[in-house]
Amino acid sequence: MTSRTRRRLMAAAALLPVLPALAQSRPLTCGERTAAQTAGPFFKPDSPRRTTLLEPDAKTGKLVLSGTVMSAQCRPAAGALLDFWQADEGGRYDNQGFRYRGHQFADAQGRYRLETVLPGEYPGRTPHIHVRVQAPGERVLTTQLYFPGHARNGRDFLYRPDLEMRMAQRGEGEFDFVVEA
Ligand code: FE
Repeated sequence: MTSRTRRRLMAAAALLPVLPALAQSRPLTCGERTAAQTAGPFFKPDSPRRTTLLEPDAKTGKLVLSGTVMSAQCRPAAGALLDFWQADEGGRYDNQGFRYRGHQFADAQGRYRLETVLPGEYPGRTPHIHVRVQAPGERVLTTQLYFPGHARNGRDFLYRPDLEMRMAQRGEGEFDFVVEA
C-alpha cells in the first residue's frame, strides 16, 4: 500500500463516524425507502375504513397527519392502503374494539389525510403511531411514526429520527412514505 493510499484510507475512516449522523439529519427524499419497524403486539386486522379516528369523547390534543405515499422513483402510489393504529390519549390500545384504528386509501396523487388524537404515553415507549402501508399489489411496509422533540424519544429502543413526522405546529404532522410501488 502506498503512503498516499494509506492517507486516503485514513481520511475516509475518519469520516465514518459522522456518516450515520448525516444520513439522519437529511430530510427523507423519495430515493430512500421508509424504514420498517415491528408491528408490536397490538395490530388487529379488519379495521374500519375511515379517515377520522376522532371519538365523540375525545378530550384534547387533536392531530391531523397528512402526506404522500410514493415509490423510490418518486411516483405517487395511487390507491395505496394505509392502516393506522395507535394508543388513545391515556396510552391504551383498544384490543376489544376498533377505537383509534382505521384504514384508508391514498388518492390518485398518493395523498392521504388522517384525523386523530395525539397518542398518550405507555410504559417503555415514547408516543408513536403505527401504520401499515401498501401500494396496490406490492409488499406491506409496517412502521411507526414519532413526534419531533419529544422528551422520551432518546430513551425509546425503537425511535428513529428518520421516522419523525414534520410538525410545523402542534397538532399538524406530515410524513411521506416511500414504499415498493
Ligand atoms: Fe405501540
